[in-house]
Amino acid sequence: MRLFDTLSRDLRELKPVDGDTFRFYCCGPTVYGPAHIGNFRTFVLQDVLRRVLETDGLKTCHVRNITDVDDKTIRDSVKAGETLTAFTAKWRDLFHADCEALNCCEPHIEPSAVEHIPQQIVMIEELVEKGHAYASEDGSVYFNIGSFPGYGKLSRLDTRELELGKTQATSANNSDEYEKGSAADFVLWKARRPEDGENYWQSPWGEGRPGWHLECSAMIREYFGETFDLHSGGVDLVFPHHENEIAQSQCSCGGEFARHWFHTTHLTVDGEKMAKSKGNLYTLEMLAEKGWSAMEVRYVLICAHYRKPLNFTFESLHSAREAIQKIANARKILAAKASDQGNGWGGYEPAWEKLSSDLNTPGALGAVFKRIKKVKGLSAEEAADDLAGLDRMMDALGLSIPVLEDEAIDVPRDIEELAQKRWEAKLAKDWAASDAFRDEVLAKGWVIKDAPNSYSIEKR
Ligand code: AMP
Ligand code: ZN
Repeated sequence: MRLFDTLSRDLRELKPVDGDTFRFYCCGPTVYGPAHIGNFRTFVLQDVLRRVLETDGLKTCHVRNITDVDDKTIRDSVKAGETLTAFTAKWRDLFHADCEALNCCEPHIEPSAVEHIPQQIVMIEELVEKGHAYASEDGSVYFNIGSFPGYGKLSRLDTRELELGKTQATSANNSDEYEKGSAADFVLWKARRPEDGENYWQSPWGEGRPGWHLECSAMIREYFGETFDLHSGGVDLVFPHHENEIAQSQCSCGGEFARHWFHTTHLTVDGEKMAKSKGNLYTLEMLAEKGWSAMEVRYVLICAHYRKPLNFTFESLHSAREAIQKIANARKILAAKASDQGNGWGGYEPAWEKLSSDLNTPGALGAVFKRIKKVKGLSAEEAADDLAGLDRMMDALGLSIPVLEDEAIDVPRDIEELAQKRWEAKLAKDWAASDAFRDEVLAKGWVIKDAPNSYSIEKR
């Protein structure tokens, strides 16, 4: 499997560093409202990546965190008059239900920021000790980006942006999210403010809470140690979040940190990033109310390459519905034809090759449809292998395709009566009458099939 790496800007082979299990970390949801389908573009593509690695025979360890303490979760839980725990649990549960509907595999480990406060404090202490962080007068602690020569490598900050950023930070610029133009020392520990309510913890610097960027560094160290195989999120996380994670982790633990960076481009609406702050979002629930299934949404989310923007439209949902129907029809024909249990990829090898080359989901779907056109001309053996290949392909994409039943056939009344008379003649050993009734049924386009003690009627 080859995948583009944001840091080296190259396609690179994915191999586990320990030679055994591919260990990867995905920045998880901030649970302060329902996740929108833009967030799910990222989570679904991470799921496809995992499925492709596993289909390729690799063992994986997938860690995805829950951000349950940050500026937004605190702000909105206080506004809702709920405890942070109750407030975030509600949105975390909805996130889990949505993931299940979208057929996303559960991560092997799902740590939460609130459950890892001590690990975050230890990391800050190390950074202060090693001269990479300093406490300000109000009891907040900042990372000194000037102390880390590698700062800016992932997001390619230019020298001007870096020079601007070499200023001592104050509480005026300690928000979790900011643009490249305001690169500066960033906050590791935020001193308690009145608007935080009861959401604070004790630390060597007084009461407060960790900055948002720290949780992933601390949890990665807890579950993976210094070096692991791949780190992932949407492109908006490249700067500052992932840049800051690299700085925190490399300066406290040493080691390589992530060996590969996988970032997905945004889902847009009318050309603008889908985001809660913009109010242009769709959730699974909103789309279900309009009659769209989670699987149709999943199809839309994988029908563009992860490095290209994808503009969400209702036309794309209509096309997804048609596409899923076509795959289901092809599968039904293959299942009816297949002689035996098939093997390998059958005619779906080109689709698999696309998928394992930089996770080319649109290329893979294109190859699936090219092959599907051939179903009718296949032999029973070919159909068996194609059925196995198509099922593996759908599994790698995480698309669950409905199994179409044979439509119930209404047998006309007169045919049923003739068949019944023929059955009675047969029981009476009146072979001439039995044959005559059978021929009459046949002439009308139906076949009588005998079992030891019964019969059935099928279309000829
Ligand atoms: P959040 O819950 O805001 O922390 O975001 C969860 C994940 O969704 C992160 O990996 C984000 O980068 C990603 N994300 C946010 N908005 C979009 C979008 N419009 N398209 C794709 N991914 C997104
Ligand atoms: Zn993160």
